[in-house]
Amino acid sequence: MRAADLDPEELLELDPASGVIRFAGQRALVLDAVAMGLLRKLLVDNFGLTAARTVLTQFGFAHGSHMAESMQAQFKWDSEDDWRNAGTRLHAMEGLFKVESGSRGPLSREGVTLVSSYEAEQHLRHFGLSDDAVCWTISGLSSGYLSRSAGKEVYVLEDRCVGKGDAACHLAGRTREEWGESHADELRFLEPGHLKDALDVSLHRMTETMKSAERKLREHRRALTRVVPDVEKPDGIVAKSPAMRRLVDLAARLAKVDSTVLITGESGSGKERIARLVHDESPRAHGPFIAVNCGAIAETLLESELFGHVRGSFTGATQDRAGLFEAANSGTLLLDEIGDVSPGMQVKLLRALQEREIRRIGENKTRRVDVRVIAATNRNLVDAIEEGGLRKDLYYRLKVIELNVPPLRERREDILPLARVLSPRARCA
Ligand SMILES: [Zn+2]
Repeated sequence: MRAADLDPEELLELDPASGVIRFAGQRALVLDAVAMGLLRKLLVDNFGLTAARTVLTQFGFAHGSHMAESMQAQFKWDSEDDWRNAGTRLHAMEGLFKVESGSRGPLSREGVTLVSSYEAEQHLRHFGLSDDAVCWTISGLSSGYLSRSAGKEVYVLEDRCVGKGDAACHLAGRTREEWGESHADELRFLEPGHLKDALDVSLHRMTETMKSAERKLREHRRALTRVVPDVEKPDGIVAKSPAMRRLVDLAARLAKVDSTVLITGESGSGKERIARLVHDESPRAHGPFIAVNCGAIAETLLESELFGHVRGSFTGATQDRAGLFEAANSGTLLLDEIGDVSPGMQVKLLRALQEREIRRIGENKTRRVDVRVIAATNRNLVDAIEEGGLRKDLYYRLKVIELNVPPLRERREDILPLARVLSPRARCA
């Protein structure tokens, strides 16, 4: 068999029954040239020119090498040269390009001239004219075939290319030594291991881009902070005064520590807002935040509210019901007006805090709960202990972290902004 004897009509086998197409004995796909162009575009857009060129070149090389192997196995060649020269002929039959008439193979002294390279055509379509030759897959394919059939590394480089405005593409194959150092830049795309280097480069580029984007974002945020002073927190906390700012900072920091918090301060000073801030800044932020005013609920009802009950445990308990401790599971429970809780309830609360479990009214079994309790009060709890109204052990259990919200009269700077927040119409006036 001679290279010149290869006949496309004999090489192409269509089998409509199985739906399989074979070319030169290998299962083949009829693939849109545009599809290959789109793949190239995706690679370039996402990984950059260097990585895309390396992937396509090395894909071509692997393909060419495999092809040479299967051609050797399939035909009995008259000579090694015939097997070697069959490569370019086959690639042309596959429609990758047309070899200019009279042009010999890439190993010849004058190289090979290709017209209508599909690859140059697709590159032009997606990227326009390029500075360098763009028939990357073809030079890889040719290199792979020749290397395999010559039994040594042969690198096919393209010096003229339609993709950079030449009339035709021109390629020549030489060994690494024959090409010499002056072609090192082009040769590296064909060298094994270059893909990893190229990907490292594109990864590095990506990392740099992300860093720069983050830097810009930080600067943008800082600029915004300068324009809008830290007066009104997104959650409605007004903190223009130094005292309130200190408190907000402290609350945000302590929020990360998962322990009980006691918030003290006069009525209307914003204790619930601070409790909400602690919740939002804590690892429990994704869980529920539930607030209950203990002072506003009668003792028997409060117990049922907090711990739940089972059906029939008291008049009106027509069905089982979970309490707020269970409802706040994995989140935060704010017990407001804790200073008003009866001695009986104090014992039950203390147990719930110590054991981290609760018992529904009328039920024997206990249930584990994972709740951060924040207690708030406008009373002086130390006085309450001395007067016998509050258990000391409960007090210490609650005030692991204590936050005191200063009264508005001690932070006059907050009054005007607060008024604006509370009265939207005043803002327009
Ligand atoms: Zn080209």
